Formats: sequence, C-alpha cells, structure tokens
Amino acid sequence: MDSRLPETSREKLEAWLRYYDDLGLGEFFTGRRAMGKRSVKTPAVPLQTAATATPAATSAATSAATAAASSSTIQGAPARILPVVPATSLFEAIDRVEGDTLELVRENLGECTRCRLHKQRNKIVFGAGNPRAELVFVGEGPGHDEDVQGLPFVGRAGKLLTQMIEAMGLEREDVYICNVVKCRPPENRKPEDDEVATCSPYLYRQLDVIAPKAIVCLGGVAAQTLLKTKDPISRFRGTWFDFRNTKLLATYHPAYLLRNPNAKGEVWKDLQKVMSFLGLKPRNPSR
Ligand code: URA
Repeated sequence: MDSRLPETSREKLEAWLRYYDDLGLGEFFTGRRAMGKRSVKTPAVPLQTAATATPAATSAATSAATAAASSSTIQGAPARILPVVPATSLFEAIDRVEGDTLELVRENLGECTRCRLHKQRNKIVFGAGNPRAELVFVGEGPGHDEDVQGLPFVGRAGKLLTQMIEAMGLEREDVYICNVVKCRPPENRKPEDDEVATCSPYLYRQLDVIAPKAIVCLGGVAAQTLLKTKDPISRFRGTWFDFRNTKLLATYHPAYLLRNPNAKGEVWKDLQKVMSFLGLKPRNPSR
C-alpha cells in the first residue's frame, strides 16, 4: 500500500511547515513522542552577582528561535501531529524530546542538508566523549582537521583543549565535546545566525540527553547561542549561569588562546571555578 500522502495533503503540510518556519519556530524532528509535564525551567540567569553584564536577560524573549512546533515527517511519510501537552511554556515543551538519546539525535540529523554549510563539508562532526559526562564543552564549529576526521577539537585548538581538560584532573574520555554547528564553516568563518538557528536544536537535544552537571562554552559563539545574547564574551566569561537547570560558564576559545597566550591565566581561573563546583583536583604536574 502506498503510504505517501496525497499530493494536495503534502502540499498543505509543506505550506504549513513553511509557515511555522517563517515564524521562526525552527526544527521539526521526526519520530517524536508527546511530552510529559515538565518541571519549571527558568531562562538563563547569572547565578552569582558579578560586575559583569547579564547577557541572558534577553533570553526569554528570543527563545522562540529554537523552538519547534510538533512532530511530522515531510518527505512522503504520513505526518503525525502530536497534541500539545501541558508544560511551563509551549516553547519549553517543544524543543525537548522525551525519551531522547544521542543515537536518536544523530539519526534525526542524518546526512543533513538543512543549511548551506553542508555543501562544503567533508564529515559531520556530531560530538564525542562520555555520553554520561558531568562536564560538557561546547565549541563553535568544526575546523579543517575536525571536518576531515569527523571528530571535535582534534586540531591545534583541540590539543590545547585536551591539555586544559587534563590540567583539570580529567581525561578527554571523561567529558563530552561538541559544537554549535556540526559542519565546518568555509574558511573557518563564524557560523551565520541562520546556520546557528538551524543546527542548535540538535545541540540542545544533546545537552538535554547528557544532562551534565556543568557546561563550559568555549568562545563567544557557543556562549551567545546558549545564553541567547549578543553581548561580547569578555563581559560575562567566568560567571555562572543557569541553562535549563544546568550550570553554565563561558570562557575563551582555545583558538583565541593560541593567538593570545596571555589570556591563559584568565581561562585557568574560569576552569578552576568549574573544578571547584565538580570537586575536581588539579592534575599533579609530574604525571
Ligand atoms: N573549534 C571549534 O569550535 N570546534 C572544533 O571542533 C574545533 C575547533
């Protein structure tokens, strides 16, 4: 039996999905199940008083950008429209996928062609590390080496990140490492806003699945994406924020440290805050 939708229904569905896309309601994941009632979530707010700005103050207003509306498949398969279930807010509910797994997120991402970055990529860089990590590092997007290997932070900046992780008394395998965008931006340019908006729902899902105790954003793009701010990272690095009930701290990107080694001291101070929160002891330098 042909399970495809009749052409007119397909057209209607596609128009409907385009309409939601135009409204900025974001990604539609396949295979989703209805959500149960969720605990109250707050927009990201600094957890400590700091002389720095509070970039996340704008977060609630812009959270619609990453929200998705319900479950459907666009290409041929029947569309299953899920009921909206009670949650703190519609937008909180719809970008979470109950019973989600990293495998399902990867499967939903597929051989992604949702934004222009796919055109020049070699490999999708989904993320790597411990799926039950207490600590997740979020970078900006793959560079050349990552694009070749399909793994995050394996180039020069990655080697520095490994040193940072080890200085914290951990191994790379203990943490999870991923990026805001999963495909390399050409010439290592910063990802554009629409590329971030298209890809970041998968990052949100990864973070929800792993549910770490702490997230460290490496650089402005990761921090600005998760905290939904345009403030420069220099204004709020080293400050704890709440991100969907997980502690989040931003520090400078290792690539920035390669260009500005003098900033290493500030980054180490930031990482020490994370270590103290997670009860980590610095690695004995003689090891
Ligand atoms: N820079 C990033 O932000 N991510 C990587 O994976 C590598 C370099």
